[in-house]
Amino acid sequence: MTEHPTVAIVGSGPIGSAYARTILETLPTAHVVMFEAGPQLTQRPGASVRNIADPDEKARAREMSQGPQAGSFRESLGIPESAVVEGMFTARQGTHLLDFGGEGSAHAPTFPAVAAATNVGGQGAHWTCAIPRPAFSEKIPFIDDDEWEDLISTAEALLHHQAAAFADSPIGGAIRSLLSDEFGAELPEGHGVGTLPVAGDPQPDGSMLWAGADMVLGPLIEEGTDESTRFELRDLTLVRRIEHEDGRVRGVTVEDLRTKETSFVAADLVVVAADAFRSPQLLWSSGIRPEALGRYLTEHHVVISTVSLDGDRMGALITDEQLSAELAHRAVHAADPVAAVNRIPFSEPGHPFSLQVMYAENPPFPLDPESTEAGNRWGYVNMGYGVRKHPRAEDGVRFSEDELDYRGFPNMTIEYALTEREETEIAEATRRLERAGAALGTFIATPRLLPNGSSLHYMGTMRMGDTDDGTSVADPYSRVWGTENLVVGGNALIPTANTMNPTLTSVALAVRGARKAAEALGAES
Ligand code: FAD
Repeated sequence: MTEHPTVAIVGSGPIGSAYARTILETLPTAHVVMFEAGPQLTQRPGASVRNIADPDEKARAREMSQGPQAGSFRESLGIPESAVVEGMFTARQGTHLLDFGGEGSAHAPTFPAVAAATNVGGQGAHWTCAIPRPAFSEKIPFIDDDEWEDLISTAEALLHHQAAAFADSPIGGAIRSLLSDEFGAELPEGHGVGTLPVAGDPQPDGSMLWAGADMVLGPLIEEGTDESTRFELRDLTLVRRIEHEDGRVRGVTVEDLRTKETSFVAADLVVVAADAFRSPQLLWSSGIRPEALGRYLTEHHVVISTVSLDGDRMGALITDEQLSAELAHRAVHAADPVAAVNRIPFSEPGHPFSLQVMYAENPPFPLDPESTEAGNRWGYVNMGYGVRKHPRAEDGVRFSEDELDYRGFPNMTIEYALTEREETEIAEATRRLERAGAALGTFIATPRLLPNGSSLHYMGTMRMGDTDDGTSVADPYSRVWGTENLVVGGNALIPTANTMNPTLTSVALAVRGARKAAEALGAES
């Protein structure tokens, strides 16, 4: 090892960025080179696409993130034109389906909505920025509470956490009040109806600058800082292989997707944060195959509905002037219409679900103009119940020995099934959603379960554990069992059954892994 240890990071999403920032700030001699298969979308690397005001620019940035589904940009992103897209499900804008139906598509008939983003900032350039803390059995059992508190608050600071965003929205307050009347008595103290914590910076005009990987990178992408001189980000550079021998990683082989040239980059530490499917795929393809790799896949299932708010009940809680003032404010910030986001968090034993309730002036689909709910001036809410998936080795991704995907990696087949445990909780969540809807107004879309994979929060495929017993891929500091200097990051590390948005937890785990890795690199060099 040299005096200046080099760290190679695969993937530029919030997790790779948290590793880069923590290592460079902790170890002043370290250098980080970050490889990202997708293109840089914004001048500030990794910024949230939601902050782009111009609709055409925003649409372009989203299309460029869509890998094999990037349409006219596909070839310029190094994706063969032959990757034809005929998926029966449509991916969320900015993401691409893994099972897109063309040549080299993954096979995921039981997890059809599974999607990824391929761009600087990863999915973190497109995310909704909800950052609730995990609670009760969602937490990692082998990290003690004091350390966890420090890790999760550090993660919140990295993500520019806002605890009470939208708390002063009168509409949001009225919705909370109606939900509290319905559910409050059943919920434990401190886990009642509240606002959803989000990641971003409130602006003086009342709008939000949403957080992306850019905010996590912070000083690494500010001109003139010491950290920026030790940080390099290479976009459109695909890591093809992790090179290793005798349990020690030597570096990575990368392909420049612009020139198609392949080269070796030596590294003292490799961090793989390339999402919950492509990270295990890269490890497997590089011959690193712990038994649990790709297994124990979980997400949280989502039961959704849309409700037209009841004018009488809302009108009893807020005045006409308050409604008009809030609508006038929202009209000015039409580019990003999220105003009031409320939730009921996970708690045990009473509420092993998370409910998110988003206000909108208009329903997400056209209503029959004759309908009594059309044009409701009190607005609508889109609500989703997150239901956990209990981890099982049977659920997961397998990699083919002889079939390649559109990128030339061993192709993926995802196997996944809901069991009676999940079906029972989904049925209970549906009943609670019916109660929530009745408390708020009239359903214009009754509760329905979204197809598997819709959450975009995929966990467990590189789960961490406290012993190397074949049921985990990484140790409690995210180091792959049996290797010395290979660290993995992302939602895939989360070993528990979860109902909530996982990025905050994954950033906290990244901070822990990065501190440990920096300590080891410092000691060795
Ligand atoms: P990613 O952000 O997925 O980044 C991984 C990167 O690795 C990608 O850019 C990919 O191109 C790159 N990569 C893959 N393979 C290679 C390779 N071989 N070489 C080089 N690069 C490679 N989470 C929440 O907690 N709250 C939310 O409200 C929320 N809302 C969401 C809404 C949407 C629309 C989406 C798409 C996601 C949402 N998420 C949310 C999920 C959140 O964005 C992810 O949890 C987070 O981005 C994961 O970070 P990551 O760094 O692990 O992976």
